[in-house]
Amino acid sequence: MTRVLPASPDSLAEAAGLLDRGSLVAFPTETVYGLGGDATDDKAVASIFAAKGRPSFNPLITHLPDLETAGNFALFNDPAFDLAEAFWPGPLTLVLKRLPQCRLSDLVSAGLDTVALRVPAHPLARDLLRSANVPVAAPSANRSGHVSPTTADHVLSEFTEDQIAAILDGGPCRVGVESTVVDVSGAQPTLLRPGGLAVEDIQRVCGPLAKAGEGEAPRSPGMLSRHYAPGKPLRLNAGAPRPGEAFLSFGGLPGTMNLSVSGDPIEAAANLFAMLRELDAGGFARIAVAPVPDTGLGAAINDRLRRAATPVEDAAPLDDWPEACGAAMPCLAITDPYDDGD
Ligand code: AMP
Ligand code: MG
Repeated sequence: MTRVLPASPDSLAEAAGLLDRGSLVAFPTETVYGLGGDATDDKAVASIFAAKGRPSFNPLITHLPDLETAGNFALFNDPAFDLAEAFWPGPLTLVLKRLPQCRLSDLVSAGLDTVALRVPAHPLARDLLRSANVPVAAPSANRSGHVSPTTADHVLSEFTEDQIAAILDGGPCRVGVESTVVDVSGAQPTLLRPGGLAVEDIQRVCGPLAKAGEGEAPRSPGMLSRHYAPGKPLRLNAGAPRPGEAFLSFGGLPGTMNLSVSGDPIEAAANLFAMLRELDAGGFARIAVAPVPDTGLGAAINDRLRRAATPVEDAAPLDDWPEACGAAMPCLAITDPYDDGD
């Protein structure tokens, strides 16, 4: 049974132990409840996507206890550092360049060279992150298409006991809408998602944010302007490799590498980006991928494979997203129109 744990030192130790062992634990943040898993463990991250029933691999936010720990994973340029100093802990997520030695799962970044980091302000979340000793990837703790949960009961009603080991109960969330997401990995800080921290407050620290749709800015949080694509041509639904091709196999077929010999889509998701990167760096001219059944996480795997095989301009949007993502909007008031839907 999914255990609902009251706020106590024993509960924190138990929840931290579960995270360390690769299980999923929901926990409160000041924005909404998060569905947490060890962000360095590909399988734990894949099981987050499986539990949410997400139709595609959007990158997840990794939660950390403090700025110092965050510095182990990503590059903090001046605006990033200033924003983190000003607003962490708090409802601000920063998208940053991954450091070369970054230990976070490639799946957390959906294969991109950036990662979204946040230090939440909720005392229970911070205690958990300190005790767990691992970075914790956590999207909102609801099934895809449902609203974000702000109480432990909401979370309990979303998942089955085999999907999630425990829920830390910290009562209702204070902010109730998701964190504001700012991309500081490029030349100008860019608002990716309005949320619990007002844009005006952010702009006081880092100057004007680029507006959505300008330059490199994605038009929606889910619709990243960039998505992972290998440098080499990718051929999908291949029964066998052609000359010069590396073969990324699935199930019983022999290949250069195998996403999951047993045909397990969660294992395949956990391996997807790391294996594509390895084959991309290897000696083959092209990459062929065996068919992956479109059930469960297989649908998300196929979605990403199709995008990886397609030039960015030709890829369909991942989500619907209202045209306007104006920096001057009152962020706390707008919840639904900007909800990722997952
Ligand atoms: P959630 O985890 O559901 O709160 O949503 C995370 C949000 O952060 C989504 O809007 C993602 O698209 C966005 N995000 C996370 N990582 C990145 C990244 N590396 N680049 C751009 N956006 C990201
Ligand atoms: Mg959500």
